[in-house]
This record gives sequence, C-alpha cells and structure tokens, in this order.
Amino acid sequence: MDYQALLEQIHDQLRPVIGQGQVANYIPELAGVSPQHFGMAVVQLDGTVHAVGDARVPFSIQSISKLFTLVMALQCEGDALWQRVGREPSGNPFNSLVQLERESGIPRNPFINAGALVLADVLCTRYAVPETAVVDLTRKLAGHEDIHYNRRVAKSERDTAHRNAAMAYFIKSFGNLRNPVPQVLDAYCRHCAIEMNCVDLARAVTLLAHHGVLPRTGERLLSLGAAKRINALMLTCGTYDAAGDFAFSVGLPAKSGVGGGIVALVPGECGVCVWSPGLAPSGNSLAGSLALEHFTTLTGRSIF
Ligand code: GLU
Repeated sequence: MDYQALLEQIHDQLRPVIGQGQVANYIPELAGVSPQHFGMAVVQLDGTVHAVGDARVPFSIQSISKLFTLVMALQCEGDALWQRVGREPSGNPFNSLVQLERESGIPRNPFINAGALVLADVLCTRYAVPETAVVDLTRKLAGHEDIHYNRRVAKSERDTAHRNAAMAYFIKSFGNLRNPVPQVLDAYCRHCAIEMNCVDLARAVTLLAHHGVLPRTGERLLSLGAAKRINALMLTCGTYDAAGDFAFSVGLPAKSGVGGGIVALVPGECGVCVWSPGLAPSGNSLAGSLALEHFTTLTGRSIF
C-alpha cells in the first residue's frame, strides 16, 4: 500500500472542504486557531511514517487525552474500573448532565466528559501529579520527550469549566469521586491541554493497533483483553454522538477531540491521525471525518 501517495490524494480531494466548520470557541484559548490547518499521518507498525500538510504542527488534543487516561486507569484498576464507568454509547452530548441523574452518577462510558472525570479521579488517587504521568505516557508512546501540556489552554479551560465542575460535583454526590473536585478538574483540564501532532498521535495508537504491545520496543503495556476493550469503546463511543455514523462511514476504532484531531487505527497494521480544526455540529472535525472516510474507501481497510 503506497500510503504516502494515498495521503496526498486525500489532501488534494479535501482542499475545497478545509476551513469549513466551526472552530471550538467555548474554550477561549482555542477560539483563535485557524480553521485552515489540515494534517494527516499514517504510522505503520514497523515505524514507517507517512505524512502530509500540517502533520507535524502540534495541536490541542482535548478529548483524545481520554484515550490515554483510559489506558492508565485500566492499568491502575483493571476490570474494577467498570464498576465506576459504563461502556455504552451515551446517545447524549459529550457534556450532558441529565444521564448522570438517571444513572446514579455512573457515567455511561469513559469517553464522555463525566466518564473522563472519573478516570482523572483514578489517576489523582494513584499519582501525586497525574498530568505529569499522562504526559510521560504520551512521550513513551510517541517515542520522544518533546510533549507538554499548554498551561494557557489548561487555565483557559479551567477558568470556564462550569459545566464540567457541575458534573464533577454531581458525580461526587453519588460517591463516585474519591478526591476533591477542584483537584480532579485541574488534572482533567491539563490532560485535555496536552499538545501533540498527527505523527505523534498516529504513532501513539500503534499500541492499540498492535493489541497492547508497544511496536517500537516490544513492551506489553496493556493486556490483550484491555486493548480489545479500548478498541471496542473507540468504535462505539469514540466520536461523540456520531459514533454510529462514523462506524458506518469509516469503520475503524477512532477517538476525536474538539481541537479538531481524530485518531484511528487499523488493527495489525497502522495508526492514523488527521487534524483540521473546523468541526461539524457533531463535534468531530469536518475535513478529518471525510479524510478518514476516503482513507478506508481507497485502501479497502476497515475492521469490517
Ligand atoms: N476539554 C474539553 C471539555 O471538557 C474536551 C472536549 C472534547 O474534546 O470533547 O469540554
């Protein structure tokens, strides 16, 4: 498969669409990002990198961080985690409060904000400085040290995190947060503010494409079962309230963020990441979703 030629073809096909959609502006620091960016990268399990456009420009990974915090929370808790977080698609917006009331403070899945707040709580219990531990994991997965969280973005989100705060206090009222809410919110906002580029992220998810073994070193970081569960959750819950449509049109496990990034993976083969900040109403990158749809159509690679 000539992935480089394929990425160039996808980039060309998408030029008319790049810039469309709405940049997330409810986090003030993200409002100024140009919607004109487009980058895409494929990293094969043998480490070969293919990249186009802005694939090496760092961006705010936002909810893609939920993937990394889930990896770590599963490492900490194993299957006991599922007593505190469900694994069903929510059918509600990612920041909805109503479901928590009906379901007694057990978030539907780890990829909605409520679920990720529980993951952040698990990490606050386990690590003195959880954001450092999460950044360390991203460095290990990406294979280099130059990954950080953006303090301005973290502060901007923390200063305006009223809805996430409401959710966290609500979860706490049901006994499903162990640590003080402000501490959990600080950690959560810092995880979301990590910056990585498409090559870093595509390489990072080769862990999941390789069923829990880091391809670069051969080190097993997740059990086979845990890797399978994370991939399943990405497929069913990874792309907001459009996960069904995404499975229909793309057919790969994927996780998106409001920074405009989407990571996906082809099991046994490669990690993929696309970034374009203009979002569709679903919250998924508009050009990014189309790029992944072209990717599976043109390669014939999907999990189905
Ligand atoms: N930090 C964002 C929030 O909590 C993450 C949203 C996202 O990327 O889905 O609202």
